[in-house]
Amino acid sequence: MEKVLIVDDSLVQATQLQAIIEEDYETTIVHTAADGLSRAASGDYSLILLDVILPDTDGFAMLKTLQEQVITQYIPVILITSLAAIEHEKLGLTLGAVDYITKPFHPLIVKARVHTHIKLYQYRKQAEAQSMTDQLTGVANRRRHDHYSAIKWQEAARLQVPFSVCMMDIDKFKVYNDTFGHPAGDKVITSVARTVASNLRRSTDFFARYGGEEFVAFMVGDPSDKAFLHMKHIRQVVEDLHIPHNPEVSTWVTVSIGGVTMVPRQDSSYEACLSIADTMLYDAKKLGRNQVVWANESMKQLREH
Ligand code: GH3
Ligand code: MG
Ligand code: MG
Repeated sequence: MEKVLIVDDSLVQATQLQAIIEEDYETTIVHTAADGLSRAASGDYSLILLDVILPDTDGFAMLKTLQEQVITQYIPVILITSLAAIEHEKLGLTLGAVDYITKPFHPLIVKARVHTHIKLYQYRKQAEAQSMTDQLTGVANRRRHDHYSAIKWQEAARLQVPFSVCMMDIDKFKVYNDTFGHPAGDKVITSVARTVASNLRRSTDFFARYGGEEFVAFMVGDPSDKAFLHMKHIRQVVEDLHIPHNPEVSTWVTVSIGGVTMVPRQDSSYEACLSIADTMLYDAKKLGRNQVVWANESMKQLREH
């Protein structure tokens, strides 16, 4: 059931609103803007019914704050007020409220409007999720990678914890396609992606299809030796899928991985990190494929053999 947050200092009015929609939605009532903001920050709510006149800050100010925060900026807000003046309505809508209901309100109107905006919000979330997902494999796509890597890199920089990035590329995949056909190749890309994704499941891990038969993963918090070991394991898991390759190339389909671990510094960037990972991948290919090459915190190379 979708959740609706009701922010209203009047218990009577809040309870009235709750009674109108509680059959269809899970509702929470708070009486101040401060409580409203902290509840909304959970990201759990699909709509906020907001009274304009509140004891601490007014609803307009709260709306502004909601719009400025990443987690809450797209939650639809319907302003509820007795201020029928057109100026208030104009201000509310300019600030980004999706709708404006003036008291006294009719239950059916409130219900219908809440329903409409929650539907729209659901479509929006669905579309957003789709635009961040790779259609073939179902894992995150490059767009999601670009968006999320920037956030995670900044977080690691702030906390000064190790950040590991790696590039992964299926070995001799052109030969695979030429031998077994493109549709079979698509299935391999999907199997590899899903296998790796299910082996990288901590909340600090991220994995995306970067393009073609190339993937990127990053992990926050682990030192290089641990990240290296983890990716060695994943490389092995892919080999252990035992997907037959063209025997002239290798017995099974395998991947090569190049990675780097560093604590973000002023003079480093995620892009620079990724480019080091790419260089390591190049080395892994040159050294014979089906292996991991890693640059540690002192930029010393860790190799499997
Ligand atoms: P290497 O070991 O050096 O990576 O060799 P490779 O053949 O894998 O590398 P190359 O970059 O020459 O070829 C990558 C191939 O991946 C070429 C392309 O046909 C195939 N490929 C890229 N994207 C897709 C895709 O979405 N589906 C399929 N089936 N094949 C793809
Ligand atoms: Mg390849
Ligand atoms: Mg490639």
